[in-house]
Amino acid sequence: MKIVIKIGTSTITHGTGRLNIRRTEEICKIISDLKNTGTDIIIVSSGAIGLGTGKLSLRERPRDMPSKQAAAAVGQSELMYVYDRQFSEYNHTVAQILLTAADVRNEIRHKNFTNTLNRLLELGAIPVINENDTIATEEITIGDNDTLAAIVSTSAKADLLVLMSDIDGLFTSDPHRSADARLIEKVYDLSDDILALGGGEGSSLGTGGMKTKLEAARICMEADCDMIIMNGSKPELLYRILEGGSVGTRFYAKEKA
Ligand code: GLU
Repeated sequence: MKIVIKIGTSTITHGTGRLNIRRTEEICKIISDLKNTGTDIIIVSSGAIGLGTGKLSLRERPRDMPSKQAAAAVGQSELMYVYDRQFSEYNHTVAQILLTAADVRNEIRHKNFTNTLNRLLELGAIPVINENDTIATEEITIGDNDTLAAIVSTSAKADLLVLMSDIDGLFTSDPHRSADARLIEKVYDLSDDILALGGGEGSSLGTGGMKTKLEAARICMEADCDMIIMNGSKPELLYRILEGGSVGTRFYAKEKA
């Protein structure tokens, strides 16, 4: 079993952009435990710009490119420092991979990436992937880590992509606004009705929203990989997913549906 876990900025930082220490510790502990069961795990982690924003004491996530890239350069090293320290506690080794859209579009670079990824898994490491925000400009940016995680999942031929987000899953309407919003547990087809639910914006520190998650689902479903949206504030749900229980919203790959 090979799973890709995407950790969103809102899951590992507080609203201030500073690290959510308790949450990060819980996540790394649980992922280490799952890795100990023999599951191959790849992490796609956001948080570079968010953490850089906090560390540089900027009042809000920067909008201009040089400041975003500067924040990412500061935050990415903190991000890896945190993962390295946490996973080391449980005897696991992390490996940083930073990608741009050009790397996944170019056949040779893409092949090099997948070779490295597979070798790291064989060696028992936990790859931690992010977009290379310090050099990705408008033209070559993948733009959001939901899409990046879906691309990584297909490249790695993963069985499952789990998006850890700030929401329980896909709802019939915005649960922050409507009391009768219901969680949709299973999606077999990205019908127009489902796609119409992708309107919402992301949080102030991250970049994703439901729209990018549905786009990620499309990429996965076409590539024989299931995808789950779960609430990152309840990392213990990862155990239930691995035990085959129902968590959040599951999008079923075409072959499996
Ligand atoms: N690569 C961005 C970061 O690490 C995150 C992009 C996203 O949140 O989707 O800050």
